[in-house]
Amino acid sequence: MRIDKLLANMGFGSRKEVKKLLKDGAVKIDGMPVKDAKFHVNVTEDEVTVYGEVVEYKEFIYLMMNKPQGVISATEDNMHKTVIDLLEEEDLVFEPFPVGRLDKDTEGFLLLTNDGQLAHQLLSPKKHVPKKYFAKVEGQVTEEDVEAFQKGVILDDGYETKPGVLTILHSGPLSEIELVITEGKFHQVKRMFEAVGKKVVYLKRTEMGSLKLDEELELGQYRELTEEEVALLK
Ligand code: URA
Repeated sequence: MRIDKLLANMGFGSRKEVKKLLKDGAVKIDGMPVKDAKFHVNVTEDEVTVYGEVVEYKEFIYLMMNKPQGVISATEDNMHKTVIDLLEEEDLVFEPFPVGRLDKDTEGFLLLTNDGQLAHQLLSPKKHVPKKYFAKVEGQVTEEDVEAFQKGVILDDGYETKPGVLTILHSGPLSEIELVITEGKFHQVKRMFEAVGKKVVYLKRTEMGSLKLDEELELGQYRELTEEEVALLK
């Protein structure tokens, strides 16, 4: 990869700013100053430093966000703030995008990455990646609902869902539940409850595959996944 591209990708500024770093002799490859922006680096073997600091090369970024309500799971929106607007400049250079969607009023675990292949795998209906949600639902959620979800319910467009595992945490005028589903149809959790005559008034995704939302993350905060966590998603 060209040295100017690598440094721009790693957040050292625009191509123009990177050119200046090179011209100033700040950039060394295996200890030798390099001034030519077109110089090719072997990203797996060469040690690149900028003002003596080693540049850790990575192609992909994987972020776990605790999505707050009021932001859209998209890269752009003319009207509303998006989850991308919550990212720091140093992460934006990787051009991450959200893997799937959470509704504007849904909170919780949202994965953002620039790894298109992994995103595709996670979203593929064939992979059946389980997603766990916590919800508050108006009215009493009952054992009949648990059974109905276990069989699969018919959504408003006639689609019959795959089985979902519903756990009642509290049943009352405002029930609290957990639901694990392996699909990601539009508004699926809300529509599954509509199918049994109930309304979801609060929804949060808490798990995706074998990863749990990091409880240390406040709403709107995010962090990079560790290598082990990325491996768990694959
Ligand atoms: N199901 C919903 O209804 N909304 C979401 O945001 C995610 C799953």
